[in-house]
Amino acid sequence: MAASPTVGVLALQGDVVEHVRMLTTVGATVVEVRREAELAAVDGLVLPGGESTTIDRLLRTFDLMGVLRDRVVAGMPVLGSCAGMILLADRLLDRAPGQQTVGGIDMTVERNAFGRQVDSFEADLDVAGVDGPPVHGVFIRAPRVVDVGSGVEVLSRLGDTIVAVRHGGLLATAFHPELGGDDRVHRFFVESVVIGRPATMP
Ligand code: GLN
Repeated sequence: MAASPTVGVLALQGDVVEHVRMLTTVGATVVEVRREAELAAVDGLVLPGGESTTIDRLLRTFDLMGVLRDRVVAGMPVLGSCAGMILLADRLLDRAPGQQTVGGIDMTVERNAFGRQVDSFEADLDVAGVDGPPVHGVFIRAPRVVDVGSGVEVLSRLGDTIVAVRHGGLLATAFHPELGGDDRVHRFFVESVVIGRPATMP
């Protein structure tokens, strides 16, 4: 694979622009993915934060759910933040009627898990694989990981609550690494997950 991998951002709903900006900063060639041909052309994909019920519905409306599941099963690296974490969950609690996930990570995720009083908050987190000072995590109506299977690496906890995981090439965060000025989670995804080694930066 080239030193600058092509990374897609699923661009049906959510904070697409913020992910595009971060991925560009860390040296990826970025494509917004709305159709099957665009999905076929990427080396890795970001599922953005947003509203998982809407993204699910649009994935099915645009006939992308099946092909996306096929790519995940075939090993395409994916970073899911917040709603994206929900979409990567094999098992989902507090799901909306009929809501589906893409799946791929052997975990149970609970939507809107932090309750109304703390709809939105920020916290400094140690994230395994991300060197340097703590990552500043922005949580917005965030999910939490309730349980994980044996193949899943827990990368970060907030107290006892799991807020970042990795399962093979699939990386998911309950917070939004695309918000705020810290590009280290995207760098970690692109360098160690998508191309498997430190990238040659532009
Ligand atoms: N609560 C939202 C959902 O269920 C996720 C929130 C977010 O991505 N900021 O999709």
